[in-house]
Amino acid sequence: MGNHKTSISEELLTALRAIWLEFKSFALSGNMFDLALGFIVGTAFSKLVDSLAGDVIMQGIAAVFGKPDFRNLAIGPVRYGSFLTELLNFLLLASVLFMLVKLLGKAGLGNFTGGGGTRGTRHCTHCKESVSVRALKCKWCGVDLHPVILDPADEEIITSRNKIIT
Ligand SMILES: [Zn+2]
Repeated sequence: MGNHKTSISEELLTALRAIWLEFKSFALSGNMFDLALGFIVGTAFSKLVDSLAGDVIMQGIAAVFGKPDFRNLAIGPVRYGSFLTELLNFLLLASVLFMLVKLLGKAGLGNFTGGGGTRGTRHCTHCKESVSVRALKCKWCGVDLHPVILDPADEEIITSRNKIIT
């Protein structure tokens, strides 16, 4: 970069500094660790489900239908067996995740219900947006919130969660 292009390189530096600051706040905010943890757990989890599909369920199917390997099924160059295997893997992973989310939601754990999560939040009785359980005024519509009045759905979640904690 030449000296005659100082303004451009200064602009570039400012832009880079802005990106760096944004990255730093992102990396230090814990979001990155959340993502990394999610990725690691997700990878391990998908391997587990892969094994369940490939080593348990597919072997069961193979034993019943007498097909030693699903993946080798093909019509000419169209290897639909491989696709079927991946499809089954995906459906299995999706249904296992769905059941986990259901179970955790029933136990009142995690942020799995709509409206931005239920952990420490409830729905405003007026505008139905989610606000903190401790909020006395809705941050969305400004209506006064009674700390005791809850949406029936939230009340159910909070009591079931308290049962687990105590
Ligand atoms: Zn509101």
